[in-house]
Amino acid sequence: MKQQTFEKPIELKGIGLHSGLPSVIVLNPAKENTGIVFEKDNTQISALYSNVGDTLNCTCLKKDGATVSTIEHLMAALYITGVDNTIISISNPELPIMDGSAEILLENLNKAKLTPQNAPRKTLKVTKNVRFEDDKGNFIELNPPKSDASHIYFKIEFASKIVGTQIFDSDITPEIFADQIAPARTFCEKYQIDYLRAHGLIKGGSLDNAVVLDGEKILNPEGFRVQNECVNHKVLDLIGDMFTSGYRILADIKAYRTGHFHNNEVLKKLFANPENYEILED
Ligand SMILES: [Zn+2]
Repeated sequence: MKQQTFEKPIELKGIGLHSGLPSVIVLNPAKENTGIVFEKDNTQISALYSNVGDTLNCTCLKKDGATVSTIEHLMAALYITGVDNTIISISNPELPIMDGSAEILLENLNKAKLTPQNAPRKTLKVTKNVRFEDDKGNFIELNPPKSDASHIYFKIEFASKIVGTQIFDSDITPEIFADQIAPARTFCEKYQIDYLRAHGLIKGGSLDNAVVLDGEKILNPEGFRVQNECVNHKVLDLIGDMFTSGYRILADIKAYRTGHFHNNEVLKKLFANPENYEILED
């Protein structure tokens, strides 16, 4: 399999979640071994775990005073559609939130034509257990793969019965991604929204781009889009964050109540010891 890039530029438009301001991105073709790079004014930032500067509510890149936030859903869509190299010009430090899922991004990327390049694609195969656990017992583990597909087991537990315990347990294939993962929207509790609004954030947030839970109720009139939407969204974030490794990761991943912070920490641990992985050129 060769590396791939876009045949021609793709433009996507939306609004930033926190600023509520228009956000336009242009995904440009890029040469081999460029990886995924964001460009604002004249600053370029590679979408790599080592450039992740903030993991509070999204995965945010920071370098030389420039920031790019909420990269994770786009990263997941680029991963699954097989894009290896692109320079993404952005108009706003916040990427468009779209509908809070990766569905619109996936639709657009699926329509785009990709060109194979000369260099072989690089895959990172995990060869040893790498585990990051926080002080509350939440953890993520990368294990050697059991087959030639990556597998994710993800468990979340919420006190409210409307979410409760949800488990995702599947190989990651383009079909599973399209049917179960891409449509899963970001979710939050109403009290969190009230707090963020009071602090001048989420000006672009609405029931059009998030699932909002209020105790045992879901405030979105359409309800959930897919079964286990909440854990499936966590899987979406995880796939996007794993692509900040700069590789396609081949691993058996186990995650328990984790988020962007844990995803970034486990990548740092992975790369801290070259014995944890091997790079395959296929
Ligand atoms: Zn997300």
